[in-house]
Amino acid sequence: MKYLFTLVLLVCLFKLSNAQDLQSPSEFLGYPIGSEFTRHHQVIDYFNYLSQISPLATFSSYGQTNERRTLSYAVITSEENHHNLEGIRKNNLKQTGILEGDSSPEIAIVWLSYNVHGNEASSAEASMVTAFELMTNQKSMLDNTVVIIDPTVNPDGRDRYVNWYNQVKSSPYTAYQDAIEHSETWPGGRPNHYLFDLNRDWMWATQIETQQRLEIYNQWMPHVHVDFHEQSINSPYYFAPAAKPFHKTITDFQKEFQTQIGKNNAKAFDDKAWSYFTRERFDLFYPSYGDTYPTFNGAIGMTYEQAGSGQAGLGVHTDEGYELTLKDRIKHHVQSGLSTVKTSSENAKRLNSEFENYFKNTVDFDYYVLVGEKSKLNTLTKLFDQHDYDYQFSKEEKLKGKPIYSTAKMSFDADQALVVPTNQPKSKMLKVLLEVDPELSTPLTYDITSWNLALAHGVEAYTVSGNINTQPKENPYSQKSVETGTVGYIAKWKSMTDAKFLAELLQNKINVRATTKPFKIENKSYDRGSLILTKTNNRDSNFDSLVMELANKYHIKLAATQTSFSDSGTDFGSPDIKKINTQRIAVLRGDEVSSLSYGSIWHFFEQELNYPIISIDAQELKKIDLKDYDILILPSGSYSKIFNKKKLSSLSDWIKNGGKLIAMSSALSTFEGKKGFGLEKMKVEKDSTQNNLIAYAERERERTKDNITGAIFNIKVDNTHPLAFGYDDSYATLKTSSAAYKYLNKGFNVAYIEDTPERLSGFAGEKALEKISKSLVFGEQRLGRGSIIYMVDDVMFRSFWENGKLFFVNALFMVNNRSQTFK
Ligand SMILES: [Zn+2]
Repeated sequence: MKYLFTLVLLVCLFKLSNAQDLQSPSEFLGYPIGSEFTRHHQVIDYFNYLSQISPLATFSSYGQTNERRTLSYAVITSEENHHNLEGIRKNNLKQTGILEGDSSPEIAIVWLSYNVHGNEASSAEASMVTAFELMTNQKSMLDNTVVIIDPTVNPDGRDRYVNWYNQVKSSPYTAYQDAIEHSETWPGGRPNHYLFDLNRDWMWATQIETQQRLEIYNQWMPHVHVDFHEQSINSPYYFAPAAKPFHKTITDFQKEFQTQIGKNNAKAFDDKAWSYFTRERFDLFYPSYGDTYPTFNGAIGMTYEQAGSGQAGLGVHTDEGYELTLKDRIKHHVQSGLSTVKTSSENAKRLNSEFENYFKNTVDFDYYVLVGEKSKLNTLTKLFDQHDYDYQFSKEEKLKGKPIYSTAKMSFDADQALVVPTNQPKSKMLKVLLEVDPELSTPLTYDITSWNLALAHGVEAYTVSGNINTQPKENPYSQKSVETGTVGYIAKWKSMTDAKFLAELLQNKINVRATTKPFKIENKSYDRGSLILTKTNNRDSNFDSLVMELANKYHIKLAATQTSFSDSGTDFGSPDIKKINTQRIAVLRGDEVSSLSYGSIWHFFEQELNYPIISIDAQELKKIDLKDYDILILPSGSYSKIFNKKKLSSLSDWIKNGGKLIAMSSALSTFEGKKGFGLEKMKVEKDSTQNNLIAYAERERERTKDNITGAIFNIKVDNTHPLAFGYDDSYATLKTSSAAYKYLNKGFNVAYIEDTPERLSGFAGEKALEKISKSLVFGEQRLGRGSIIYMVDDVMFRSFWENGKLFFVNALFMVNNRSQTFK
């Protein structure tokens, strides 16, 4: 044993340089590649083996997933380049300005990302073969190319798929589409642990896979990035050039080089008579994809799509009559990956010089200045840190600037505003994030068409020219000592930070109240929703120290008061200051529920608010006594089978007895037109005869008139209602569909669109605009002692619309806040 160990050690020390001795994936794994799905840990084993045995590869972990699987990347290049890897990396960053100093490197850096969607499972297999080919038969390309391979971007999703497949598949496999092995069960292997789509998360970095990957990505900043995917079993293969619309920031070189790579891929595919298509479906606009994010960071970012995904298994009959096998899927991804490396290697010098050009600043003003609640600005700085954006805090008291949205003032208080210089390496990406209304060449797009970061975070944004005095850090407020004789503390209610503070107070059994009316005490004014912590209601001896500790943890500025007698408005003893109860919360999941919507809520409670929920399979609802819960959340979904007449009536009895139901976006249709629920859909009259005369080829474009593809609207808010505590009287909402409901007849219309929708950004078709006129966005309807809260727009969408989340927290803790005595 000892000898064996010494031998392995010797082998590692004198890494083999002879290609013949390197085991292929098939040899290493013990089965022909493509004849089985390889589990994630085996993929890791193979890359470990490559790095141990060959001087051409290193392999490192960059973190762990939620389910504790390894996130990893291999760096594959010539032995000589490996000796100078740090130098190569730094020289690349120098030409972008991220590191200081001169350099004119000629080494191409190509990053290949596999299996971001877990059930698009051929690509992790292809990553092993690609690495092997690069290190053996295609070794010469490595002289001037560094290839970074992330074999599995989403290990939890991949293993969810692979383990499921292995459990249900026939032996030998069957290619019949009807077989269970071609029909994944909810939620499928595509998303990560929290059911997020990691290929929509690059920019918002809400998931730990993204957060950890970005650290390595930013250290390398590749020139070419390929994100390997799979599409339906009947669409052969897709590679660059991408479809329109292209975002305006994309340079001529980026467009041209994509085409060059595409043509070389095409040549390789033509030689083997493999089918493919280009310039359709997959566009370059929304900045949070595995192709656009690298593109806006100067790279040639591309999506490659092989026929397959969760339906394909080891082999499946396509509708065209041939059998699509895993073996073929792997071959295609290997070919496109190798062709891409080859094209990059052949153009290494030009890739570098054009990469350098991309980072030259072209913005004609000096700063973006973001103004708003400090806790909101701090949340933004955390995002900026993820992406290595430079920022400072203003030392000026007042500044003049051009508002990005005309609703703001020209001159504004700038004390400790967030100042983002435009003269910084990643200036182009910042422009994409903060521009008013991204120019769209065609409404036929794959994703949302607006995402303005200032609106998403509920802060005002300005462009400023000239110099601003700044300091590197804001001084975080720290609660120092307890003033003796205080009767209690008051905290503002403005942002998610305040909500997290509340959640932790409640978890610590601290008695918290919220005011439903504004008041003024000891000369300071407090809005509705402000939190009040009194000693009378909290007799524990450690009350003061615990409150201090938590306030400091969240940088909450508490006001200590000496009296309960207010200058104006309500006193502390008033019944208008209501106790906030702990809530027992149930959330539905399962076949009927949108996995993305459920996942975003699950993630919100566990990773942001830190408040417990019970997740229940919607099918089990019939067996459950809702009396055990205060709140039932229906994520977006289709519940018509769950809530039949009988179940709907018992649900409404539960609400009448004091239960609170929160329905999110498409879940609202469950209650449309149902007795007692008062919810009515908006309809727009269609001129069917005219529609019938539109040419077949024009129909798709015509349909966009009915669509809202992620557009931002300024809407009215009744901030005297508890659902809107902490908000102004207007709010920018992100609409991801044109579904619209009439104002509630008997309920409270808390957030709504007036006659003419005020579109701030993004695409909305003309008929869709008609439809959302005078429509509800958020509302509450009372039913007996309880409430139904309707949220037409999904404030949890991809978890990036930060400013909407307080509405959701208000729905939990502020709306119809009754004691639990009804049980
Ligand atoms: Zn995909």
